[in-house]
Amino acid sequence: MDLLTAAIQDLVAANHILEQQRVVDTFGHISVRHPTKPNRFLLSRARAPDLVESGDILEFALNGDPIDASGPKPYLERFIHAALYAARPDVNSIVHSHSRTVIPFSISEVKLRPVAHICATIGEEVPVWDSHDNFGDTGMLIANLDTGRDFARLFGRASSVLMRGHGSTVVGDSIKEAVFTAIHLEVNAELQLKALQLGAVKYLTRGEVEQVAARFRAGKSGEGFDRAWEYWCRQAGAMRNTPLRG
Ligand code: MN
Repeated sequence: MDLLTAAIQDLVAANHILEQQRVVDTFGHISVRHPTKPNRFLLSRARAPDLVESGDILEFALNGDPIDASGPKPYLERFIHAALYAARPDVNSIVHSHSRTVIPFSISEVKLRPVAHICATIGEEVPVWDSHDNFGDTGMLIANLDTGRDFARLFGRASSVLMRGHGSTVVGDSIKEAVFTAIHLEVNAELQLKALQLGAVKYLTRGEVEQVAARFRAGKSGEGFDRAWEYWCRQAGAMRNTPLRG
């Protein structure tokens, strides 16, 4: 199988996994950098993730323009992906979602921070981007490159960022890492909310976050992100998309 076909298969599986794991619903999207043309990325046409098939995947330039201008309607918020791929050569996959437990942390004073080791890849403290800061009253979506670049500036070197009153965006070195972190951003929000009801919360230290995240990222085939991916593929009925063995 060629690299592009494999990337499209994984991207379709990722769409179904994120639905099955309740990170996305009608809205939300995941992209991957083109495996052989790094100045392009792959993203579905505007469609609910659970319905995405390989024929829905479109190619985009890093300004957000679809390569085929006569193709089907793209997602309005593709500029999230465009601006982050342009700003972050280390990023190869991006998840944008409105997963529900995360949103309270985007509108309150409490920062979303890792409370469990499995959630370390979300980063030590998740920043919040507020569209109102630089753009005032808007539709609150990243619907053009200007807003996307502003978002990418605040994003910096982070692995996940919340968007005030809207949702979150997560990046990874691979589809498997981005899916893993997006799922655990939601898991961490659930755990942190529960812990806050009990009183003072002890968060992971910076050193713990660094060590745990490094161990996940150093995982070999069948370990870490790979092991989780294989499990979630089965859960989502996407087993055909896992790598062939032997
Ligand atoms: Mn959105």
